[in-house]
Amino acid sequence: MTLSGKTAIITGSNSGIGLGIARELAKAGADVVLNSFTDNEEDHALAKEIADETGTNTRYIQADMSKGDQCRALVEKAGACDILINNAGIQHVSGIDEFPAEKWDAIIAINMSSAFHTTAAALPMMRKAGWGRVINIASAHGLTASPYKSAYVAAKHGVVGLTKVTALETAEEPITANAICPGYVMTPLVEAQIPDTMEKYNMDRETAIKEVMLTRQPSKEFATTEQMGGTAVFLCSDAAAQITGTTISVDGGWTAL
Ligand code: NAD
Repeated sequence: MTLSGKTAIITGSNSGIGLGIARELAKAGADVVLNSFTDNEEDHALAKEIADETGTNTRYIQADMSKGDQCRALVEKAGACDILINNAGIQHVSGIDEFPAEKWDAIIAINMSSAFHTTAAALPMMRKAGWGRVINIASAHGLTASPYKSAYVAAKHGVVGLTKVTALETAEEPITANAICPGYVMTPLVEAQIPDTMEKYNMDRETAIKEVMLTRQPSKEFATTEQMGGTAVFLCSDAAAQITGTTISVDGGWTAL
């Protein structure tokens, strides 16, 4: 399949899942817009590396997804948006009674409201182009809950709701909207947690991963960023043209429990 001629904007894509999706979409031929709130040389170098590897017009645009006007400006600056991947996200873990209000506001803004703003800016472009794909990166926590993650779980459930409304408002057009719900995915941040977990529980690497980190993931395997990218590429394919308003879990069986 080729996504040649399509422009894909991926929020929060200078690391982890967003970067994995960027690499797979670019391999499929899409011109990718990488994004984060930083504006470092490395951010632009990353985009150039992907562009050189894939022969696509991949570039980096700085925008802070906690600010609605910057979310919309990202789409405007890109100049086109055939594929919108709402991926930027942060986490904070604490009980509701102690949860800092500013952390709640930041998580709701970055993990949920940003998707509203980018979608609002992108839909007119998709309608004009006569084709579009909105893919929201929710989470197993968009479908189930865990204690101490109130803002994250609320935001991810909200993203799933927004996905359904986007699908219904575009149902008669060649535009689809879906959410990918990952379980635990191996990213640099997750890799960095492994030594601490080994030390805390006095376990070897494999036991710490299987018995502590992946207790809720029945496969006992991390999903990979390549698998997230592959799922996004599938949702952009003709085979997925009638898949809209739904969630695709890539969670090793987490939500089947
Ligand atoms: P990550 O920290 O590697 O990536 C998050 C990205 O968001 C980074 O590129 C970061 O720069 C960007 N970001 C943060 N704040 C931003 C802001 N204000 N404006 C613009 N960009 C901002 O983490 P990840 O694991 O790759 O997570 C990506 C998405 O996947 C998140 O929405 C997360 O909730 C979701 N997710 C991750 C997992 C997992 O196990 N890693 C599981 C389920 C869902």
